[in-house]
This record gives sequence, C-alpha cells and structure tokens, in this order.
Amino acid sequence: MAAATDCIFCKIAEGVIPAHRVWEDDRALAFLDINPLAAGHTLLIPKLHAADIRDIDPELAAFLFLQAPKLAKAVQQATSADGVNILQNTGAAAGQAVFHLHIHFIPRFEGDGLGYRWNAGQYGAGEVEEMLSKIQGKLG
Ligand code: AMP
Ligand code: ZN
Repeated sequence: MAAATDCIFCKIAEGVIPAHRVWEDDRALAFLDINPLAAGHTLLIPKLHAADIRDIDPELAAFLFLQAPKLAKAVQQATSADGVNILQNTGAAAGQAVFHLHIHFIPRFEGDGLGYRWNAGQYGAGEVEEMLSKIQGKLG
C-alpha cells in the first residue's frame, strides 16, 4: 500500500516529519516514541502503510519481528531495564491511536507501576470448544 497522505508515521518514514531514528533499512524503521512510557520507549514500523497487523503481508510481519530480538536487547541494555514489553495494539478498543502498524518496545522496571488490568476469566462448560472451532474456522 502506498503512503497514506494524512498518516503521521508515513510522514516519519518519508522523513517529512522528524523523529529520533534508532534503526532502519529499506522496509522498516525504529524510532523513539515522542511520549514514552519510559525513556527508551521505541516504536518499530513498516515503511509501507498498513493500518494494523490484519492489513499487512505476513512476510513483512515476519520481517518486522525478525528485528525484535536486537531491538528488545538494545532497548533493555541501554536503559538497564529489568524487562521489556513488546506490544502491538490493534484497533481503537485495544488502545491503538495511530493507525499505521507499530510495535512498541517499552523498558520495564521492577515496581515501575505500569501494568495492565489483566482481569483473567474462565470458560464455562462447552465454551472453550465452541470458541476453538470459531477461531479455527476463521483461519482458513
Ligand atoms: P498506539 O496507542 O499503540 O497507537 O501508540 C501510538 C504511539 O505513537 C504513542 O505511544 C505515541 O506517543 C506515539 N507517537 C505519536 N506521534 C508520534 C511522533 N510524531 N513521534 C513519535 N511517536 C509518536
Ligand atoms: Zn502510514
């Protein structure tokens, strides 16, 4: 997909809007998040516009994730973080605010107070089998 004219991350990829570029090649770019959850918070994007993970060529998704080990390690080591959250929000309901696919690398520290409300549930009788076949039916 061509660059979306009103997309801020396309503009960053093209160099029209400045960003602190951490790493790039012809297909992907990592840059510092402008409003970091912690210093060193980094975003990785494909240079081609795609709204989210559902929109992208799986080969490009694989290429993006190939960059994850080195980025996670560099962000963690540079910040002396205890851990790193690798996060990809898909859809507004999931917290996505910029609709150009991006993967967050967020340095995490013991006791930093960041976190999810992770209200884990349980399946009722028969529900897990029903859900399993629904998802598998969509895989094609
Ligand atoms: P999300 O909520 O997953 O869509 O995350 C969007 C992220 O993009 C947020 O963490 C923003 O701080 C970040 N962001 C928005 N505009 C810019 C920009 N111009 N440069 C760097 N990061 C940005
Ligand atoms: Zn874009």
